[in-house]
Amino acid sequence: MRVVLLASLNRSGEAIGALLEARGHEVIRFCEAKRALRQLEVDGTASAFIVLDSGNSERAIETCWDARLLATFERPIYIGLVARPMPSQAIVEALDCGVDDVLQMPLSSDELYARLRSAERMNQMQLQLVRMATRDALTGLLNRSAFFNGAEKICRAADAPSAAIMADIDHFKAVNDRYGHAVGDKALKAVAACLGGRAEIVARLGGEEFVLLLPASGAEEGRRVAEGIRAAVAAHEIDLDGAPLRVTCSFGVAVAEPGATIDEVLRRADAALYAAKRDGRDRVAVYRAEMSLPDSLPASVIRRAGDRTEGPRRQAAGGQFLHAAFNWPCPGASESF
Ligand code: GH3
Ligand code: MG
Ligand code: MG
Repeated sequence: MRVVLLASLNRSGEAIGALLEARGHEVIRFCEAKRALRQLEVDGTASAFIVLDSGNSERAIETCWDARLLATFERPIYIGLVARPMPSQAIVEALDCGVDDVLQMPLSSDELYARLRSAERMNQMQLQLVRMATRDALTGLLNRSAFFNGAEKICRAADAPSAAIMADIDHFKAVNDRYGHAVGDKALKAVAACLGGRAEIVARLGGEEFVLLLPASGAEEGRRVAEGIRAAVAAHEIDLDGAPLRVTCSFGVAVAEPGATIDEVLRRADAALYAAKRDGRDRVAVYRAEMSLPDSLPASVIRRAGDRTEGPRRQAAGGQFLHAAFNWPCPGASESF
């Protein structure tokens, strides 16, 4: 693990650092709390913080609390407090202040290593759970719930416009009907690969619909990015045992002015996507005021448990688009010191 170690330059501090390094942990040492916390803040790869209490328990616990505030769901931090034997009440206080483990001196090296193995397991498990909760299992893109959470934060904090791009695979039902669901899944993954990395937020909204959010971008930038993806998707050959399959996508672009809700911008992007479909597919349309927005939508379409909001949905029927609810598949000897 990459460990930020806060310890005085004394024998115990040196010994803890040496023990950690002996087991391959990367140790960044500090003797000042402020600098240690700063390191933890800017270094997202540091996943453990070990504090040696050299006499001022209250201060050490406060520092642990400050470190706890830096941890997030996506960035777990194991916090270990190494201290002289403490009364039970002090241990309770430390744990309540965000400490994961109180390691009492004299500290056994085996215990230290075992605690860190346990911490690593917990960190990995947390990251895996977060991934499962925020990623679409098929494509690896963000899922709709993660999209709405992230996009709402960006829209709320923005002081410049953001561009949203909705993308929908053309005639995807026909791909499934002709080649089967497994090939359809392969096409979904191929399109997702073309979208990946093109914007700060790239998500699969559900089915064969995707959405991208470009912070600090206007309509022209949105159109440029969408056009690049459109060309990449259209040029990509999906290998079906030597017989290449190509799919195309249609795109709707809309701009969220500062203060706009993600709902509003998605309704606009959806209206533009509708126009791109109507005008022949495999194209990009940018929202214009004369494009009609749906007046009202069924509640089931607007909101779903886990989502903050949900925009309008369509299904193609005989070339005509209908607003409709969509079914989303959506070793060593022990030492003491
Ligand atoms: P359009 O060009 O108008 O968008 O037509 P379309 O056929 O792409 O649109 P439609 O809404 O009629 O069909 C979408 C299809 O996507 C229907 C559904 O079975 C399929 N689909 C949804 N989710 C998945 C999935 O996870 N895997 C596969 N293989 N198919 C999916
Ligand atoms: Mg669709
Ligand atoms: Mg489609």
